[in-house]
Amino acid sequence: MDFLTIRASNPGPLTLRGTNTYVVGGTVVDPGPDDERHLEEILAAGPVQRIALTHRHPDHSAGAGRLSELSGAPVLAHGVGLEDGDLLAPGLVCIHTPGHASDHLCFWHPESGTLLSGDLLAGSGSIMIAPPEGDLAAYVTSLERVRALSPARILPGHGPEVTDAVAKIEEYLDHRREREEQVVSALEEGASTVGEVVTLAYRDTPPEMRPYADLAARAHLAKLGRDLPTV
Ligand SMILES: [Zn+2]
Repeated sequence: MDFLTIRASNPGPLTLRGTNTYVVGGTVVDPGPDDERHLEEILAAGPVQRIALTHRHPDHSAGAGRLSELSGAPVLAHGVGLEDGDLLAPGLVCIHTPGHASDHLCFWHPESGTLLSGDLLAGSGSIMIAPPEGDLAAYVTSLERVRALSPARILPGHGPEVTDAVAKIEEYLDHRREREEQVVSALEEGASTVGEVVTLAYRDTPPEMRPYADLAARAHLAKLGRDLPTV
C-alpha cells in the first residue's frame, strides 16, 4: 500500500512546516486547511473514495467539507462512521487515541507497520495537550497503546516521517514522565499557583513558549488531581 504525503502550506509553531495530508489508495487522511490549491493537489492524486479525520482541529479538518463537495466522498471521523477497531479501508485499522483531543484516532496498517499518528506524535518537537479538551492521563495511555503495536514507522500529522518509531514513542513517554516529576518537585517546593509551577518546572522553556508551558503545566496538574489558581 502506498502512502502519499501532500503537505499543506499552513506553517506555524504548532503545525511545524504545515499539516500533512496522506493519500492511501482512495482514502484521504486529514485534508488539512480549507486551501483550494492544497485540495486541488489532493484531487490530482486520484479519485477520492473517503475522507478521514484523525481529529477535528481545524488545521486537520477545515478543508474536509470542501473536499467532500468537490469529490462526492463522505467525511468520516470518530463517532461519525468510525469507532475503535473499525477498518477505515482494507488493511487500515482505526485506533481511538484520546488525549490531544477526545475524538483522536490513529490509523494503523499492520502489514507495513505504518502508524498514521495525526497529532498523537509529531515528526519533531512535542504535542500540545491543552486542558480542558486535552487530557494528559488519556494521552499517556494512548501513547502506551500505540507503543504496544511496535510500529516500524510513524507518518505524523506534522513534520517528517519517523523511522525509529518505538524509540520516538518512548522518548515522548519519558519526556512526560520527567516533566511530571518536575511539576511534583515544584509542588513540594511550595508552588501554589500555576505561574509558580511554570517558573520552577519549566525553567528550560524560552519566554516566547511560556503560554504553551502554562497550558502544559495545567495538563500535568489536572493529571495529578491538583487545581491551583492561575496567579
Ligand atoms: Zn490537533
